[in-house]
Amino acid sequence: MTPGRIVGVIRKMPSPVSEPTVGEQLSGAPEDAVAALRTASKAVHSELKNRADGAKGASKAVLEATALMAADPLLIKGGIKLINNSGLTPERAIWEAGASVAEMLHNLGGYMAERAADVLDVRARIVAELRGMPAPGIPLSDTPFILVGEDLAPADTATLDPSIVLALVTSSGGPQSHTAIIARALGLPAIVAAAGVETLTDGTEIYVDGAAGTITLNPGTTERTAAEAWATTSAILSVFDGEGRLKDGHLVPLLANVGGAKDAVKAAAANAQGVGLLRTEFCFLGRDTEPTIDEQVEAYRGVFDAFPGKKVVVRTLDAGADKPLPFLTDASEPNPALGVRGYRTDFTSPGVLERQLQAIALAAEGTEALVWVMAPMISTTDEAEHFAGMCAAAGLTIPGVMVEVPSAAIMSASILTHVEFVSLGTNDLTQYAMAADRQLGPLAELNTPWQPAVLQLIRLTAAGSETEGHHKPVGVCGEAAADPALAVVLVGIGVTTLSMTARSLSAVGAVLASVTLAEARDIAALALTAPTATEAKARVRAALPILAELGL
Ligand code: PEP
Ligand code: MG
Repeated sequence: MTPGRIVGVIRKMPSPVSEPTVGEQLSGAPEDAVAALRTASKAVHSELKNRADGAKGASKAVLEATALMAADPLLIKGGIKLINNSGLTPERAIWEAGASVAEMLHNLGGYMAERAADVLDVRARIVAELRGMPAPGIPLSDTPFILVGEDLAPADTATLDPSIVLALVTSSGGPQSHTAIIARALGLPAIVAAAGVETLTDGTEIYVDGAAGTITLNPGTTERTAAEAWATTSAILSVFDGEGRLKDGHLVPLLANVGGAKDAVKAAAANAQGVGLLRTEFCFLGRDTEPTIDEQVEAYRGVFDAFPGKKVVVRTLDAGADKPLPFLTDASEPNPALGVRGYRTDFTSPGVLERQLQAIALAAEGTEALVWVMAPMISTTDEAEHFAGMCAAAGLTIPGVMVEVPSAAIMSASILTHVEFVSLGTNDLTQYAMAADRQLGPLAELNTPWQPAVLQLIRLTAAGSETEGHHKPVGVCGEAAADPALAVVLVGIGVTTLSMTARSLSAVGAVLASVTLAEARDIAALALTAPTATEAKARVRAALPILAELGL
């Protein structure tokens, strides 16, 4: 759930285009099928081109590239050949032609390989056009709407314009799925794993309350007043003054999670006190080959330059499960979330991590950022020790690890004898503690960091830093840090810094400033001793009336 109250009209996301039957044969004349294919590809081309003309920045570039692909002679000629020579329907013919072009691009590697996804997108659009069905992806509209659908694909987010899409309601995805993360980054109210999405129809007006996770049909005066009040509050909440602190002055630095230089510049403008998580894999998603050291240096330096004199925590490549990188991960693993992902890819693809650390060290040279480095998916003390050794060899002086596997939470005291800090990845820590895939809608209730078991693991991690007298930083960079109520609990448990999407800094900052450290500790105890996640959340919310006042 992402907070926000809004009234708007529903536009439904069309279902994905299904594959035309293998060998589907033409019943009419081939010339007609060829003409139909040409007309459909032209229609798709002009629709994408029109959208590109009206778009800006990265979305414009994505749409222009896709529009070009819709008119690509290789693709269309390939389809025509299959109609004429094999008697296939135009739908099947373009499907197969698209697959061959995508494979060819894929084999060329580099930039060309990245275009393979565009071809597959275009062929789906052409098939939808031939079938007379709505185009896949986010519906085109000049007027604002609430987007309702099963889930968002990563590519959809490139064309998601937050001035047109007012809110998101999806039937799948958990609170820590990437759809929810994206909604939060765009500042959109969102409800994921919503019940009854199938019964919502296009054009219906609804009221969405993101914090409560509720949808109201036929909104009346109460809902409209609440939505107007939210518009005012969100304007107030849009400023963070650049110093996270409690009511008694206790400092809790608030940092940003970023996926590259563009995010970092925005985060710096939002007064983030540094970067608590640079998801380096986001710089190279969709890449088929390992980025060169020079490419990496450029990507990281863009982030460092946005934060002179401030801390930037670089996470080494976290490939695998929901973030596959073809050059590191094996797509055929039976259980990818339990597979060779994160730091573990160093077991199967030695050299990649070492080169990444070299690139980080090179990028850090000559910048004023204070560069810290951490590895994702660490499970044992040995792994932490090994990673610290690799950092030292690369000349990186502040190594740390993420705590996202329960074993690392339990062993934090031992792990902290080898590294300088830990950062809790509560998204994965929750999925592994609760044995619940973070991407699955039906498991959303298990998949919340409000689960007392998850809070206990966080407590153990923080205690591990104290018991051995380490007193080393224990941060949180999972989505839990972006929830203002949980942020209070985390600080009360002993977490020293919080890192979140830049959009959440002001709300978290405002709520933290309303409590003293002693109060935060009492509130944390309420959550830690609760028997259920629902009870933990209810107790904490009751102790923090400021949340309701701010509509959070
Ligand atoms: C996490 O697991 O909490 C985390 C921050 O990493 P990611 O969401 O990128 O897996
Ligand atoms: Mg993670």
